[in-house]
Amino acid sequence: MRADVAQATPQDGGRRLNAVLALDRMSIEEAGPNPDRLAAAIHDQLGHESGEVPVAAIAMALDIVEIREAPLRGLEGALVTPADRNVGMIAINSASSKTRRLFTLAHELGHFLNPWHTPEDGSGFACSRSDIGTPWGRPPPAAARRAIQEAEASRFAIELLAPKRLARRYLHGLPDLARAIALSDELGLSRESAARRYVELHDESCALVFSSEGIVRYIERRSAFPWLSCQRGDRLPILPSVVDASGLSAHEEAIARDWVARPSRDALIVQTLTQSRGFAITLLAFEASDSEDDEGQ
Ligand SMILES: [Zn+2]
Repeated sequence: MRADVAQATPQDGGRRLNAVLALDRMSIEEAGPNPDRLAAAIHDQLGHESGEVPVAAIAMALDIVEIREAPLRGLEGALVTPADRNVGMIAINSASSKTRRLFTLAHELGHFLNPWHTPEDGSGFACSRSDIGTPWGRPPPAAARRAIQEAEASRFAIELLAPKRLARRYLHGLPDLARAIALSDELGLSRESAARRYVELHDESCALVFSSEGIVRYIERRSAFPWLSCQRGDRLPILPSVVDASGLSAHEEAIARDWVARPSRDALIVQTLTQSRGFAITLLAFEASDSEDDEGQ
């Protein structure tokens, strides 16, 4: 069965899968249903220091007996498991990108390991693109159980794929999408997931605007960052020009009132990563004024 898995998971290059990991599932599951703690318990045993986290090998070490990549109609991933969760089989949509397949695999493993997650039909979980793309943040208290499970499985996925310990070296200085790209390249994340994780973990308060053809798709804003003056469906101000082959712009000083509802005295910096098919990720951050350094004196 392991040979089948190795063939079915090219996202791990096949090589790592020859080195079978030894993980203690019982002690990992003692972490309980909290997805952050479950992922941390795996990393505590794994001791992974850098590069893409070997999710397929982790899954195999934790009783996933088969990972199959095949075209899935309307789904990104599925987990088939008996009620006792003794073993599981994960199916991944082979038509999706490498980064999406890796995230989906981690998401399905999150369902498998979480003792609180219950399948709707008794035989497993079937997850669409919108299920897996649910925000990682805490779902609203009134959310349906299924929506909470999906958010938790994706929370587990990002904590497994990009734990703070591996991301830490990118999190210094003025927020910069170049470092989010480096994080994406090292850990096998999509640019979008890496940018979200980067902003989530960065010490500086900042915000991201995801857009398509100049129209806001959604906004991710750290709680300390001011409310933006745009919202989903609005047309963005003119974005900074691309200056390198990766699609990045320089950091430019923006007209604050174009972006934030209540401009402050700090300079608002804007930087855009232009992607294919009209998609763009725009980072907003404040360059602290000198007077702020004097605070507390
Ligand atoms: Zn799911």
